[in-house]
Amino acid sequence: MSQNIHVTKTTESRASQLDFENIPLGTTFTDHMFICSYEDGKWQQPKIQPLAMIPTHPAAMALHYGQAIFEGMKATVNAAGEPLLFRPEENAKRLNFSARRMGMPEFPEDLFVAALKKIVNMERGWIPPQEGSALYLRPFMYATEPFIGMRAATSYHFIIIASPAGPFFTKRIKLYAETKYIRAAQGGTGEAKAAGNYAAAIRPTEIAKSKGYDQVLWLDAHEFNYIQEVGTMNIFFKINGKFITPSLDGAILDGITRKSVIDILEDNKYVVEQRPITLSEVKEAAANGSLEEAFGTGTAVGIAMIQAIGHDETEIHVSDESPVGQLVMDTINGLRSGKLEDKHNWMVAV
Ligand code: PMP
Repeated sequence: MSQNIHVTKTTESRASQLDFENIPLGTTFTDHMFICSYEDGKWQQPKIQPLAMIPTHPAAMALHYGQAIFEGMKATVNAAGEPLLFRPEENAKRLNFSARRMGMPEFPEDLFVAALKKIVNMERGWIPPQEGSALYLRPFMYATEPFIGMRAATSYHFIIIASPAGPFFTKRIKLYAETKYIRAAQGGTGEAKAAGNYAAAIRPTEIAKSKGYDQVLWLDAHEFNYIQEVGTMNIFFKINGKFITPSLDGAILDGITRKSVIDILEDNKYVVEQRPITLSEVKEAAANGSLEEAFGTGTAVGIAMIQAIGHDETEIHVSDESPVGQLVMDTINGLRSGKLEDKHNWMVAV
């Protein structure tokens, strides 16, 4: 289907106006967007066209019932200036996993990857070259059908937009273990990348920030003790030389960085356990000196080193240094910039 993408180019690129040394976060968008509509039970002509507003009916079902899902990924360049994608087929699979959970149509995975390649190729002048910087890609799908009533919509848009991003500030973060609100429970939508999950996380995140913390540590819905995720990242703990990350329990998003980090740690001869882990276990490890480091993993930041976790009135000190976290971060950046040997074949040229 890739050959079928209909392209209309902008007459004047805005790329030259971008200051790569000073990229405002999430507010600059590239010249073009990919768009494909779902009507009459099938995906219609895929197009790349100049970035533009999308007319929306006020009864569009996404606005009322929340059929909206998204993906997040990055394109980087190697030393020769050639764009690279990181495991894009994993994002294609996850988008369709989310689509199934939200009663939405699946998008053809080969077209998803072809569309990304094509738009990144067209927007290569927007990819910041510095290590740690990237062109952030945002594929998303939402219900467009104007209808008041509870059922799956019959029409959708699948769109990809792109936004250049400078290196994230990599300060060590402090987490607030949330014991009133939850992000997700088994049987809910936590393992899908559904827009509503993020809406529900906004208020608790604001509360954590008002208490002086950077991110929420999400706990399970029943005991508020099993650790799920941190902010919009998966989480890893190093205890007694071994790594532990919560197993995918039906409430946790299956992070692409998470699965890559497991491989990178194993490549470096670390044991990684995927199993339930409680805040009590982490507290005990901190108390007996066996908690060595902890970090969050996700596309946007890469690796976020964790310094401390606030819980009720106490604070668990994690660590002031994260040597293994740094090694993993350097490995991901090295792969993304084409400097390291890509032995898992994760990098995809466009
Ligand atoms: N958990 C949540 C809730 C997220 O939104 C993300 C970001 N997609 C992640 C984890 C990390 O996933 P990934 O490594 O694929 O970016």
